[in-house]
Amino acid sequence: MRFAPSPTGYLHVGSARTALFNWLYARSTGGAMVLRIEDTDDSRNRPELTDAIFEYLEWLGIDYDEGPHYQSQRRGCHREAVQQLLDDGRAFLCDADDNELAGTEMTAGRAVRFRTPEGTTVIDDVIRGEVAVDHAQLGDFVIWRSDGSPTFVLANAVDDADMGITHAIRGEDLLSSTPRAVLVAEALGATPPVYAHLPLLVNEQRKKLSKRRDDVSLESYRRRGFLAPAMANYLALLGWGPRDGVEIRPMAEIIEQFRLEDVNKAGAFFDLAKLEHFNGVYIRALSPGDLLDALAPYLESAEAPWPSERYRPEVAEQMIPLVREKLRTLDGIVPQVDWLFCPDPPIDEASWEAVVRGKASAEMLDAAIAALAGCPWAPNAVKEAVFAAGGALGLNRSKAQAPVRVAVTGRTVGPPLFEPMVQHLARQEVLRRLRTARSRL
Ligand code: GLU
Repeated sequence: MRFAPSPTGYLHVGSARTALFNWLYARSTGGAMVLRIEDTDDSRNRPELTDAIFEYLEWLGIDYDEGPHYQSQRRGCHREAVQQLLDDGRAFLCDADDNELAGTEMTAGRAVRFRTPEGTTVIDDVIRGEVAVDHAQLGDFVIWRSDGSPTFVLANAVDDADMGITHAIRGEDLLSSTPRAVLVAEALGATPPVYAHLPLLVNEQRKKLSKRRDDVSLESYRRRGFLAPAMANYLALLGWGPRDGVEIRPMAEIIEQFRLEDVNKAGAFFDLAKLEHFNGVYIRALSPGDLLDALAPYLESAEAPWPSERYRPEVAEQMIPLVREKLRTLDGIVPQVDWLFCPDPPIDEASWEAVVRGKASAEMLDAAIAALAGCPWAPNAVKEAVFAAGGALGLNRSKAQAPVRVAVTGRTVGPPLFEPMVQHLARQEVLRRLRTARSRL
């Protein structure tokens, strides 16, 4: 098996899924996994993109047994293969007489075409079944460019043959190039790999995921605090599912369950809500210490919305048990606790709209200000004072609490309000926020 990315962009979820499926197949069959960097497009390759491939494979736990090989360093092998095809009359120099045949030396500045025989190539794809292609559709295709570089199909086929690749698992977008790779491999006397073309990833509108439209870079998922095991578990289910239907499970079990022939043909929906759900399950499975460690970079980040001198780690730590059930991503911790560290927490617009629309919000804030000015500053006393004030206005507990919560925390939803508010904010601070909100109404 091999993962053969072209480092022309940051690793995206589609490539990661391809890498993972090759790895799962290797690990479930005892095969070897090869990493081959297809860096032959000099104009688009950047070293940091190759580094990112290593980094994200490691992050996801995808290791390899051989490589990394760099396709750019195999130019000599590619040239020899082309020369062999020329010598055997299976290829010819372009811009020259079609009669120019065997024994021709490759000369600089000349492109080489494969001499496609008449007939049909049938690919027995593990996932798609038999795909037959009439050679008339292929024509005599270029395998060597006049600038002295191999084309994708030539390099890909030669490398697969030289590296003893038995199974090529890759994206469906490459299917159209497969008959040419098979013809080249066979003309070189090699056995082409068994191909398995994975279904494309699609978005909610069933459109192919695109870099422009959709969030596809692994980096952005990692930055938001998706845990690597959750991500890997989710990626494994894009086009495949275990026969027993259990979706969230350790990678060791996924390896055991994985069958390449169980991969579907239909486009695989990249479902962010499902990925977030998976991530929430993995977050809740962390021990309190591990969760604290995982959240610390978000809480201590210079990009956090509070001034760093106001951040109190012991307060954040006390909040974690109150919010962990709701966390879907690690960065989701920030809006749960920002109101405890920001002097003026940002007021969420939709939440403010709800206060403005809410009946009696102004009266409720007035009543809360009056009640909280005098009551003992203890969680239960404060809570009862707010509910009593609301009761006097004919508001139930949740209606009474809503404008107070938005005034103090900036949002309609969040962790339990009264206990952390009373423990971590001073009475004057709470009163100030209530008055500010009241004056805005
Ligand atoms: N280098 C190709 C790409 O990144 C993949 C080649 C293959 O898997 O056969 O699109």
